[in-house]
Amino acid sequence: MAHIIEVAKSGRAGCRSCRKPIAKGELRFGEETVNAFADSGETTYRWHHLICAASKLPDELGQAMASFPGEITNRAEIEELMKTAQASKPPPFPYADRAPTGRAKCLECGQPVEKGSLRVVIERDIERGMTTTKGAGSLHPACAAAHVESQGGTHEELTNGLRAHTRALSEADLDELFSIV
Ligand SMILES: [Zn+2]
Ligand SMILES: [Zn+2]
Repeated sequence: MAHIIEVAKSGRAGCRSCRKPIAKGELRFGEETVNAFADSGETTYRWHHLICAASKLPDELGQAMASFPGEITNRAEIEELMKTAQASKPPPFPYADRAPTGRAKCLECGQPVEKGSLRVVIERDIERGMTTTKGAGSLHPACAAAHVESQGGTHEELTNGLRAHTRALSEADLDELFSIV
């Protein structure tokens, strides 16, 4: 999808984030989406204030800003909001952190993952009646490789993913993690 930034041609479009109008002449962010009401492949834009998109859609806005040739007068403020929003979003799977609670059970051994202990978080299917959704699943580091391999993954994929996505651990924690996984 090619998201765009442009000058609002009229004051009629409302922001999809805050629902308030976007003033004519103001810069607006267009989130390109597939138009569900048209023939397949046709796309349409959902418009947002730049400030609203910075918090709600930081990755998409970043793409559009990279290809926008004009000047964005409040760029510094927008980049600050984007950074905050990105930091508060969970990273892609798999990643490792210290368990924020002691409520999760290890997908492999079924024992609780102790609060504050190192854990590996992967994506898993959660069955709800007839439907399956994606959610996060916790693993003890020592159980992670066996579990990933039982699901058709490889040990290398797991460690590469953990190295790429883990944000919240210190160097010492990472050393400990990779000595176990
Ligand atoms: Zn808005
Ligand atoms: Zn376990």
